[in-house]
Amino acid sequence: MENRLKPMDAEQLREYGHKMVDFIADYYKTIENFPVLSQVEPGYLRNLLPDSAPNQPDSFQHVLDDIQAKILPGVTHWQSPNYFAYYPSNSSVAGFVGEMLSAGLNIVGFSWIASPAATELEMIVLDWLAKMLKLPEDFLSAGRGGGVIQGTASEAVLVVLLAARDKVLRRVGKDALEKLVVYASDQTHSSLQKACQMAGIHPENCRLLKATSSTNYALSPEFLSETISQDLTIGLIPFFLCATVGTTSSTAVDPLLSLGKIAKSNGMWFHVDAAYAGSACVCPEFRHYMDGVEVADSFNMNAHKWFLTNFDCSALWVKDRSALVQALSTNPEYLKNKITETMDGITTVWLGKPAMLYKKSYQVGQTF
Ligand code: PLP
Repeated sequence: MENRLKPMDAEQLREYGHKMVDFIADYYKTIENFPVLSQVEPGYLRNLLPDSAPNQPDSFQHVLDDIQAKILPGVTHWQSPNYFAYYPSNSSVAGFVGEMLSAGLNIVGFSWIASPAATELEMIVLDWLAKMLKLPEDFLSAGRGGGVIQGTASEAVLVVLLAARDKVLRRVGKDALEKLVVYASDQTHSSLQKACQMAGIHPENCRLLKATSSTNYALSPEFLSETISQDLTIGLIPFFLCATVGTTSSTAVDPLLSLGKIAKSNGMWFHVDAAYAGSACVCPEFRHYMDGVEVADSFNMNAHKWFLTNFDCSALWVKDRSALVQALSTNPEYLKNKITETMDGITTVWLGKPAMLYKKSYQVGQTF
């Protein structure tokens, strides 16, 4: 019995790892045989599993048998070629194999020293991706900007909203929080509203402007301008505009250049959410949908939607990373190290995980 309680060693990893890969390869081979939508009733699993955790270890084969008999029926098969709900969440065998490596190395890259390769690889690959998307050079890490991986587009918009909020509050004073106004079309993904709630933006100051069929459901620059003017006359402070390339419900594309100019002339942060359609913009024939991104402060696309990476992997670029650092840094003692302290203090990289936002910092050594 004692032997069975020992952690698995490298040889057992080899044996069970091969079995797990076989299990998943068989799953992919037969995935079309499953109904895409799970057919189970709510609560089905409680009847199939014991009331409390087992006292004794089980055999690997028995666990796989349980997964086959009890778990797979309760799975909705997002990777099925017949899956058309929500949005694509298409991983790939290459993505899955990469995830194995990531799980095996199991790095927590919250500072450069915690794993230099993790931070540097992230910066390099996001520069590559920025170049593929033909993002302006300001978004590359060689200058004041750069890219950082977040868990989701929802985290990305929260992070930039916080940066923008703190930037404007540094200028106008903390007490002005209730005067801050956010703008977007009513087609914008609900994550913006959620981010506003989390960032303490007054619910009435989150302007979701109606977009109609007359503009193909894109946000009208004239309507935006008028609304901003009205808000200014009553003493509010417009500070954040979110435009979308490919809205969730209708694939509308907001006119980035005109909107961005309005944002700039009012001293606002301009964020572009291209969560799912952004992937398509690496194709030269679709790149024009992003025209105007040069006036944006931040740009986000989800590699986990259409770029064949596993969920979750959302790429965020900013032109001025110091705004993020200032808003989100804390600099606790345990993250300080000599290398960090000898660097310039502005190159910072975030690694987002669902429900567990934490920053890995390069040169600053701070978390939030
Ligand atoms: N923005 C747009 C345009 C989307 O389509 C979605 C998801 O469908 C999101 C944001 C939210 O993405 P995530 O689930 O990565 O937070």
